[in-house]
Amino acid sequence: MSVFTHRDYDDHEEVVFVSEPSAGLKGIIAIHNTSRGPSVGGCRMWPYGTDEEALRDVLRLSRGMTYKSAVAGLDIGGGKSVIIGNPRMDKTPALLRAMGRAIDALRGRYIAAEDSGISVDDVKAMAEETAHVAGIVDRQGADGDMRTGDPSPATAYGTFVGMGAAVRHRLGCGDLEGVRVAIQGIGNVGHHLVQLLHQAGARLWVSDIYPDHLERAVNAYGATAVAPDEIYGLDVDVFAPCAMGAVLNDATIGKLRAPVVAGAANNQLAEARHGESLMKRAILYAPDYVINAGGIIDVWYEHRGQFDRAAMMHHVEGIGATLDEIFTRASADGLPTSVIADQVAEEHFRKARVEPGGTVTSVAAE
Ligand code: NAD
Repeated sequence: MSVFTHRDYDDHEEVVFVSEPSAGLKGIIAIHNTSRGPSVGGCRMWPYGTDEEALRDVLRLSRGMTYKSAVAGLDIGGGKSVIIGNPRMDKTPALLRAMGRAIDALRGRYIAAEDSGISVDDVKAMAEETAHVAGIVDRQGADGDMRTGDPSPATAYGTFVGMGAAVRHRLGCGDLEGVRVAIQGIGNVGHHLVQLLHQAGARLWVSDIYPDHLERAVNAYGATAVAPDEIYGLDVDVFAPCAMGAVLNDATIGKLRAPVVAGAANNQLAEARHGESLMKRAILYAPDYVINAGGIIDVWYEHRGQFDRAAMMHHVEGIGATLDEIFTRASADGLPTSVIADQVAEEHFRKARVEPGGTVTSVAAE
């Protein structure tokens, strides 16, 4: 397995392979870029088939966090970690504390939060060994409820604001009243998004693989449930992927009738070239890591201390203006919105270096 020549290495600053056999820990911490501040990203636990699979996942995810946080204007960098193992069978307090020690050894260059397979309680267990974790404090979420950690309401709110910007740009609609939206995946984020869209007067179609997730949207918000495969071809204004990645691919893009794609799922494009496929079909794509940044914004405001909900919400609302800028540049340059988003992110994280204490110093762009 190569590391420096790995196709996803992308100039990572640091990749640490961590192991503590007595605690059953085998994992990788990847720090992609800290030019804007310490790297922040979730810790994922997954039964990867090979070490190579784990390495690929952590490298891609940590790079994505650099881009997401840079475009969101946060003074943090991108990092991520993975624990190799089955979260239902292999997770023990000793393993979580061992991961906490591994994170602590990096002295704050990487700050961990929840991700697939790692819950708020698991991060709390890591916090017994390190202060360099986020998403574990009780606070009022974007939906107004008290909660510990879970950033889903903020992610949904940012997606809602971003969808408004996309609909304005592509369809000339001033708001979401009467706009027809198809949402794929009514989980943590999808559920909150359905609520917000219903309040705004949108007409809703929903799909999920679990009938009980659909029931909430149908009974409480009058959404129409459709089968998972039907969601792509609906005659709607917006397709909102809020389930899994790679759903914009050779098989699905041709089916889409919606002129706007705006949803919260990570890594929606199966390959970078699919950004161009969408543009060629005059489908406006709100780049995933731009529109779904509400969660990292929420987590970061919590971690900085003295959580200020109004300031956090204001920051999340900025996703609308950021998307406006990306859409305008993409139209002017005749380039896919996904390419412009990458350019904007790179402009941000290559030009600034945040010194200890928070001072931002300009450095020459690479
Ligand atoms: P979740 O697991 O709570 O919800 C996902 C939902 O999708 C579930 O209800 C699941 O049953 C459904 N689903 C799975 N396969 C499906 C299919 N083939 N068709 C239709 N539905 C299907 O996850 P979540 O926290 O709501 O996150 C949703 C997406 O948003 C993920 O891609 C996640 O990475 C991304 N995201 C989440 C956050 C956050 O704050 N939770 C932040 C940024 C990005």
